[in-house]
Amino acid sequence: MSILRQIAQLGHPVLRQETGLIGNPSDPALQALIDDMLATMAEANGVGIAAPQVYEPVRLFIVASRPTPRYPGAPAMEPTAMLNPEILWQSDETEKGWEGCLSVPGIRGLVPRSLRIGVRYLSRREEVREVELSGFIARVFQHEYDHISGMVFLDRVANNRELISEREYMRLVSA
Ligand code: ZN
Repeated sequence: MSILRQIAQLGHPVLRQETGLIGNPSDPALQALIDDMLATMAEANGVGIAAPQVYEPVRLFIVASRPTPRYPGAPAMEPTAMLNPEILWQSDETEKGWEGCLSVPGIRGLVPRSLRIGVRYLSRREEVREVELSGFIARVFQHEYDHISGMVFLDRVANNRELISEREYMRLVSA
């Protein structure tokens, strides 16, 4: 049984805190946390969620790109829990794209991200995965990776004029 967790909102110190490595992926409390994060993210129509967003300062996040009302153009993939994730390399080539965050409601910002990244993480079954990600999925990974580094997307917006309201964003994507 998963439970919906509260989502920490911008200003709560847990979003700015250092995070700890996960020592024991098979810990039932950790597996329950992953299930809760999957349910909480789905309920909020998110395409990713990081453990600090549910008040757990550990190195864990979920990447779950799929088309949603908030990201109508997102590619579909199986929701994937990533434990102790690392960025092995990233392309110099970057692209600006609109991001929002369940912890920063009502705001969208244009964020430059590497187009391609090489990453390594442990699956929830403790398998080591090494993969190359690109485009929107690489963007979600970098956004979530920031969360376990005490950062939010607002920190990467180059210019305050590249911040807009969710309502104006919805007008943009439906245009
Ligand atoms: Zn976020």
